[in-house]
Amino acid sequence: MRTLFTVKRLLNIEAGAIISDGYVAVDGGVIQSLGRRADLPESVPDAVELRFSDHTLLPGLINSHVHLCCASGGKPFYHRQSDAMALLNAVRNARLELLSGVTSVRDCGDQRGVLFEFREAVSHGIADAPRLLLCGPPITMTRGHAHFLGGEADGPDDMRRAVRDRAGRGADFIKVIATGGGTPGSDPSRATYTIPELSAAVEAARILGKPVSAHCRGIPGIESALDAGISHLEHACFERPDGTLRYDPDLGSRIADQGVSVTPTIQLYRDALDHLTKKREPFGLTSEESRRIALLPGQISAKYQALCEMIGRGVRCVAGNDAGLPFTGFGEFWKELDAMVAAGLTPIQAIQAATCLPAAVFGLSETLGSIRAGKQADLLIVAGDPTARIADLSRVALVMAGGRIIRHEGAKPDPGPEGN
Ligand SMILES: [Zn+2]
Repeated sequence: MRTLFTVKRLLNIEAGAIISDGYVAVDGGVIQSLGRRADLPESVPDAVELRFSDHTLLPGLINSHVHLCCASGGKPFYHRQSDAMALLNAVRNARLELLSGVTSVRDCGDQRGVLFEFREAVSHGIADAPRLLLCGPPITMTRGHAHFLGGEADGPDDMRRAVRDRAGRGADFIKVIATGGGTPGSDPSRATYTIPELSAAVEAARILGKPVSAHCRGIPGIESALDAGISHLEHACFERPDGTLRYDPDLGSRIADQGVSVTPTIQLYRDALDHLTKKREPFGLTSEESRRIALLPGQISAKYQALCEMIGRGVRCVAGNDAGLPFTGFGEFWKELDAMVAAGLTPIQAIQAATCLPAAVFGLSETLGSIRAGKQADLLIVAGDPTARIADLSRVALVMAGGRIIRHEGAKPDPGPEGN
């Protein structure tokens, strides 16, 4: 049975254009055809027609940076938990993402590889989840950032072993921690690994056909990732020892010249600022929180500026919100796109950063990232027009993943002329 969606606006995201009063026909989990509804007969045999009178249909979203195992909800990233609890968090978080229209996620670090088993469970229909791009536990130096996830490795030989372990377990990409981060005792402004260590990881991964991505907040880590030939950067904050962020144009040029792509993860700064602002009046802040809230407005402006500068240089910047952090929950990915618009992108550019652009960057363009005949039927329908008002992405009316309707609000199937 075919499903025919008719919508007020059909978004051709690659062209950045709207088809008015459009349709999309889906069969067998694949997009069969699309175009203007007027070009079809009034009644299409063998099709259930779902009409959405003031809605926009766009490709399912791709969130390029999440941590499905993390609890979020105010719990620190480094909160200790059992592997079983990590897996249960993933079950809940994956479903929240999917219901919000995120049909693919790139998980940037799980706990001891539990998501490899989760993905297998999803393939058996045990749980619902977006399509999962996985790296397993991030590779980090002994006691480095995120070491509690179980991915410590030191020295070139051990880096090669860690890469081969992840690849053998089914990783789609390799993640290395190239600077400190939010883990107590690690310093975000400092690099972690030596160039020979990072290069060993890159070479081992290249032989196995896996891209390598680096967590890097401070400038020395960005430099070593570039020196080692890493192809994707997470965060790229240009963070300095005093916690301020300052875009470095020379380094931005190097990122562009080497064709390296970036997930800038902006919204988490706005979420932290919101949380601390709400907490300050009634409860007061700790000295660490006071230090943080003083830095955040400048950090947010610097993140906005770096995004625009890097895009201006031709860097492909994809949207990922680091969901799983204490104040950045699941099911709220649209806020990362809102942050990108606040930075100066058009809503269409922000939506591209969550659809066709990551599909291209991560080698998924054949099947995902846009509405095209032959691609997987991962679709999102929202009320209103997110190309005019990005927050309309939160007004989810329907989510389809691989041709299966996961969520459906409002519009009911058209009974057809016979009423059956
Ligand atoms: Zn992260």
